[in-house]
Amino acid sequence: MKSALIHSPRRPAPPAAALEDVGARIATAARVARRKAGDVTLIAISKTHEAPQIMPLIAAGQRVFGENRVQEAAAKWPALREAYPDIQLHLVGQLQSNKAEEAVALFDAIHSVDRPSLVTALAKAMDKSGRCIPCFVQVNIGAEAQKGGCAIADLGALLAQVREADLPLAGLMCVPPADIEAAPFFALLAKLSADHGLAGTRAAGLSMGMSGDFETAVQLGATHVRVGSALFGARPAVAG
Ligand SMILES: *Cc1c(COP(=O)(O)O)cnc(C)c1O
Repeated sequence: MKSALIHSPRRPAPPAAALEDVGARIATAARVARRKAGDVTLIAISKTHEAPQIMPLIAAGQRVFGENRVQEAAAKWPALREAYPDIQLHLVGQLQSNKAEEAVALFDAIHSVDRPSLVTALAKAMDKSGRCIPCFVQVNIGAEAQKGGCAIADLGALLAQVREADLPLAGLMCVPPADIEAAPFFALLAKLSADHGLAGTRAAGLSMGMSGDFETAVQLGATHVRVGSALFGARPAVAG
């Protein structure tokens, strides 16, 4: 694409326009909820997209990105991060315990801590590397068999293990069931945060809301929204 020719300063590149639009929608949703837009971090989910698609967002000032696969992130991000050292990379997809070391080396936050073996593996990897990565505990908020996340009934025990292992807990994360209203699930995640004593602490983060529902999530307390297709356009159907 002849991007340098068609992107005049007056007409932002489409991804930059999308970024502006999503940012404005976050700000409006925050205002409605009497929250500060600055309290919501937009994570641009760049899975399946390559550097040429990602670059316009970096040029427009976006610095927080998310990926769902360790291997894909390892192939794509080291070069970009070298050029833009202030980029933050979040892992939002399921993590196998045997990739914990690689994930700790590569990412700046992990949103998918969901079982005791992974807590153990991450604690060990952080000890070994000296890196300290904020972690969100993912809750299987809709009790879906095919989804990651710990069962609501197991959350208390998992949080206790996270504390015991001294993992830096950033908060809770969820991916509600597709095709039904997400608001009750977002409200439930916020309630779980309060019930487990996380609200008002350094672990008060709520990673919730994607392209179809991030405004609702912001109104219900999201501190991190994970937005992919609203920024980059649709992904091929096969990609998770
Ligand atoms: C892909 C993905 C997103 C972004 O989804 P969009 O609907 O494209 O915004 C958010 N969170 C997770 C965990 C994802 O895998």
